Amino acid sequence: MRILIIADIHANLVALESVLAAAGTVDDIWCLGDIVGYGPRPRECVERVRSLATEVSVVGNHDWACLGRAALEGFNPIAQYALRWTIAQLGREHLAYLEGLPNRVISGACTIVHGSPRNPVWEYVYNAHLAAVNFNYFDTAICFFGHTHVPFVIREREALRGLPPYAPRHGDRIQLGDDRYMINPGAVGQPRDGDPRAAYAIFDPDEGVVSFHRAHYAIEQVQEDMRTAGLPEPLIRRLALGV
Ligand code: ZN
Repeated sequence: MRILIIADIHANLVALESVLAAAGTVDDIWCLGDIVGYGPRPRECVERVRSLATEVSVVGNHDWACLGRAALEGFNPIAQYALRWTIAQLGREHLAYLEGLPNRVISGACTIVHGSPRNPVWEYVYNAHLAAVNFNYFDTAICFFGHTHVPFVIREREALRGLPPYAPRHGDRIQLGDDRYMINPGAVGQPRDGDPRAAYAIFDPDEGVVSFHRAHYAIEQVQEDMRTAGLPEPLIRRLALGV
């Protein structure tokens, strides 16, 4: 069984389509939130994720902000600008889809959230200490999360000892052992680990294997689209750098 795991699409339709094509045939798709915000194609990304008809799709902080559930002042000025632009683009049916998303889903041995099990929409888990605390906030063997835009794997045993998380790269295949894990596939639409390619993971629950992948996409085309939309230049530049 192959489950495609995607997070932080951020209205980057070209990156999303590249990931869907590169992943090939899959049995299911799990979406870890932040479908919109930053990028130039929020409507199309909501429609595309909705069309995937996945049962596992959770809400992210940018999605939340578009619903008026989070003060825009909580975001940095550039993100705020992009959110205001995004809100103006979304129609009633797009908001209705985002409105219907839960902030946590449990599927088999996995808990799925955007930020963290302790604070599903907002908390960033970027080190062993934060992971160690968060292992207390879910009961399943595995937690898949996004939000930091950086691929990340940590075992509970290692988190409790303060050992650094593993930063998976393209082609890494991790055989899960008899332990609990927190796993971030990285971002589809705005990677921040220095590799600008779109990130995703494939989870095989039968084999207990997670593999990490990167897909090339037409970054210049997305940047052009963003300039036409009048989105802030720093958001346009960072796509090419993967930061
Ligand atoms: Zn995000």
